[in-house]
Amino acid sequence: MDLNSLTIDAARSAMQDRKTTAVDLAEAFYAKIEKDDPQIGAYLTLSKDRAFSKAAEIDALAAKGEKLPPLGGVPVGIKDVLVTRGVRTTAGSKILGNYVPPYDCTAVARMEAAGAVVLGKLNCDEFAMGSSNENSAWKPVHNPRDLSRVPGGSSGGSAAAVAADTAVVTLGSDTGGSIRQPASFCGVVGLKPTYGRVSRYGLIAFASSLDHIGPFGKTVKDTATVLRTIAGRDPMDSTSAEVPVPDYVAELEKPVRGLKIGVAKEYLGEGLDPEVRKSVEAAIQKIASLGCEIVEVSLPNSEYAIPTYYIIATGEASSNLARFDGVRYGYRAADARNLSQMYRRTRDQGFGPEVKRRIMLGTYALSAGYYDAYYLKAQKVRALLTHDFDEAFKKVDAIVTPTSPTAAFKLGDKVDDPLAMYLADIYTVTANIAGIPGISVPCGETKEKLPIGLQILGKHFDEATILRVAHEYESRR
Ligand code: GLN
Repeated sequence: MDLNSLTIDAARSAMQDRKTTAVDLAEAFYAKIEKDDPQIGAYLTLSKDRAFSKAAEIDALAAKGEKLPPLGGVPVGIKDVLVTRGVRTTAGSKILGNYVPPYDCTAVARMEAAGAVVLGKLNCDEFAMGSSNENSAWKPVHNPRDLSRVPGGSSGGSAAAVAADTAVVTLGSDTGGSIRQPASFCGVVGLKPTYGRVSRYGLIAFASSLDHIGPFGKTVKDTATVLRTIAGRDPMDSTSAEVPVPDYVAELEKPVRGLKIGVAKEYLGEGLDPEVRKSVEAAIQKIASLGCEIVEVSLPNSEYAIPTYYIIATGEASSNLARFDGVRYGYRAADARNLSQMYRRTRDQGFGPEVKRRIMLGTYALSAGYYDAYYLKAQKVRALLTHDFDEAFKKVDAIVTPTSPTAAFKLGDKVDDPLAMYLADIYTVTANIAGIPGISVPCGETKEKLPIGLQILGKHFDEATILRVAHEYESRR
């Protein structure tokens, strides 16, 4: 039995049947990390003490013949923007280079309470700002499918670890596509839930009105299992919603026959790579053959999504990142002679170039005299973009689009052109702007064997439908 390639169910039954143990499993994953991760760069910090003590707890349950919890003994990895008690958490930034949080992110705490074994922390773009993982202050991540290419971002480590079999499932965050786009680049499944579905408590904030936490897995079912574990109201996050959490795994078995699936022409236009288009069109045909009705819908304001996103995201980031001042935690410049010099030098030395660019853009957009022209205007366009989806979802149950306009690009290809990098988010940012759920599921490969992802968007709090469509598509493809 290859322990590293197991899904959640397979790993759990192997432990339940005493064919393996949680400790053996953790050892197999650490051995694989030691062997393969130096070429990939997905892990920043390993949490072996924490992992082995949880694994021993699970093995004690299994030895007594008790039923294992839903993630009992399953080795998982956590994006480094989610805080973990006693385990270094850097958000991919030098400014948090030695930060050891005193508390756990709710999503991580819920995973562990369900039995998960946390192997370590995963590389990402600094403060989750990026689309290629090249903005990590520590090291880039290489795409396991082709080491000369990026894994996508900002949750590049989370996607790469699942693709490389160095974690069964992982958690990431998605502010403008950072779960779905790397999932598509690495050939795995990635889900961004509805805004409010998963508590953001313990997620290091980038843009609070757009930030979401969600899972990566090898299968749709694995992401459904993780979502069921982490979803639901949390008193520690006032934006987490009091909406009942369905049994996403049981819901997967409902057939998709009869569902209406929308296709938006605005998402199949200019800039879309022909090979991606071909795979997505074939996927739409396949979904039709499962008994779904394909309906054309229009999302007329889509062309404004990127500028709207980059004003709101940078504005919120400039405000959120004000807390990194060298006083309370994290890095402090050593050579300052007075307080204002200390602030300036700490931030100058602690933040990387993309983070500084965003702080400057955001500060400008929020400043007196410009606020109305930029931030306020962007909020109005946000309402229009949300309204586009509300109208479309009167006619359809879900909408399918490409996840990204291209497959994974080469490392270094876009680093000098921030605008080209921002445009790669064209199909994903709208779901964050509107707060609706979206999943990326593999739908083919380019001639160069690079994975292509299909995005399925759903109504607010209707993750169950997009998971069902993705699951049936995945199993019949
Ligand atoms: N690529 C987008 C950005 O750079 C989205 C990042 C994210 O979702 N965290 O902002």
